[in-house]
Amino acid sequence: MSKTTETIFSKIIRREIPADIVYEDNLALAFKDIHPQAPIHIIVIPKKPIPTLADAESQDHALLGHLLLTAKRVAKEAGLEKGYRVVINTGDDGGQTVHHLHVHILGGRQLNWPPG
Ligand code: AMP
Repeated sequence: MSKTTETIFSKIIRREIPADIVYEDNLALAFKDIHPQAPIHIIVIPKKPIPTLADAESQDHALLGHLLLTAKRVAKEAGLEKGYRVVINTGDDGGQTVHHLHVHILGGRQLNWPPG
């Protein structure tokens, strides 16, 4: 699948639109979700514009690991010591709406399972 890699998240990386950024390094950026689904809802993205997890390649393996370790770091800094959920919506059936790979961190309340 190959959808455009220019998304609203690209604009956030370039600071063309505002976002509540909570973490940044040379590979990744984390910011608060504009429509939070839990008391804490943070998005972690790679700066590299990979459209979806399905588009990630073997050369991205270190970057994917970095995203999860960044999610762990951001969750800890957000005080989610009781736990949290990490979600990567992928493609249309996965409910992905922004086609720039991103990791959701959700926490601050008891989350239900299974998700809808
Ligand atoms: P997904 O449905 O997995 O593609 O998630 C996209 C997420 O991006 C949704 O939870 C949106 O609320 C969030 N989102 C979209 N635009 C923005 C924005 N400008 N700033 C922060 N979060 C956004």
